[in-house]
Amino acid sequence: MRASVPSFDFGLDPVALRRDFPILAREVHPGRPLVYLDNASTTQKPLVVIEAMAEHYRETNANVHRAVYRLAEIATDAYEGARRAVARFIHAPNEHGVIFTSGATASINLVAHAWGQPRCKAGDVILLTEMEHHSNLVPWQMLAARTGATLAFVPVNDIGELELESLDRLLTPRVRLFAFTHVSNVLGTVNPVRDLITRAHAVGAAVLLDAAQSVPHMPVDCRALDCDFLVFSGHKMCGPTGIGVLAVKPERLEEMDPFLGGGEMISRVTLEQATWAEPPHKFEAGTPHVAGAVGLGAAVAYLEGIGLEAIHAYERALAAYVMARLETVPGLRIHGRATARSGVVSFSLEGAHPHDIAQLLDQDGVAIRGGHLCAQPLMRKRGVPALNRASFYFYNTRDDVDALVRSVLRAQEFFARANG
Ligand code: PLP
Repeated sequence: MRASVPSFDFGLDPVALRRDFPILAREVHPGRPLVYLDNASTTQKPLVVIEAMAEHYRETNANVHRAVYRLAEIATDAYEGARRAVARFIHAPNEHGVIFTSGATASINLVAHAWGQPRCKAGDVILLTEMEHHSNLVPWQMLAARTGATLAFVPVNDIGELELESLDRLLTPRVRLFAFTHVSNVLGTVNPVRDLITRAHAVGAAVLLDAAQSVPHMPVDCRALDCDFLVFSGHKMCGPTGIGVLAVKPERLEEMDPFLGGGEMISRVTLEQATWAEPPHKFEAGTPHVAGAVGLGAAVAYLEGIGLEAIHAYERALAAYVMARLETVPGLRIHGRATARSGVVSFSLEGAHPHDIAQLLDQDGVAIRGGHLCAQPLMRKRGVPALNRASFYFYNTRDDVDALVRSVLRAQEFFARANG
């Protein structure tokens, strides 16, 4: 089996990189090394990120942007330094368009309230796709209900690609916003984002790119893509939970009203009214997650050290290996066979519920997802109640894949016997 897969020389050494992640050395069940394959959900954290956050609390903790004492200046520098690191990492047009939020979900809701709410009205269309995560669907349903705008959807075909032919019909001048995912968290499809953005702009629509599954895994260049809004989460890219990013193009930034009101986001306040601080602070009401930003900054530096090109190439090769190996399991069907794919592989096994499979695999120390993967409409479209998903990162190895396949085979035999 191994002879048929390409050489895994991509300029990164997954075995060495694993040593940066303390949790990958643990056994959750005694005698069963952890095989962590739920990276699309959240990734593990390297020691440099854990240490950066601990050091922040140990040495530099103070509130930011408020006090004049030295410690507060150091904390503010650390927070703003993280913003600069993120802006560089995604090639944002400028730093004030990089807004810290609690994650991709919060970023999308912020756009819906701060930009969508004052702009959308009856007769307008918000265009989405059938492969969106609930986070890039439900906020738009709520906005449509508040404003009278309607939703439309680009269909997904059988192999998991967007039906681009439908865009001529769907992309009309009535479309205010086209919000879509860069990489599907279910199908692993990498969408042709440059082309989609150009076509949306041609009819005057703004674009929100959900980059939750791309920024952690491949180079993403906001300036080259020219998207209006880009969102992602720190915890899916070796950073902490509770911190994420909304990157906004300068023209759109000027159009955005504040969403949350409070401290930090104001310029002048009287008892009756207030004026706003300049972006990004205008959109960061209250005390921010300073340690989270520091951790995200450390994660960015760590990923840059490995190289996003290398990570993307390695994960693609690993995904091809996974698909080839899983295809040998009787009764297994892979969902998502787009030409351009990421390291996300979803599958179903005849005669077995995905929850039961995930539980059986857990006994072997193999952590994969079983469920609707926050994409219930896509499950319905594919005619399944749920799926299993194994999702990979640069610290996963072919040994992890082999452990997955061994465990899936064991589950398949179990259910074949149980079903008689
Ligand atoms: N968008 C996509 C494509 C995702 O995969 C996820 C999380 O799985 C999200 C949005 C939401 O991310 P978060 O829960 O970190 O806000």
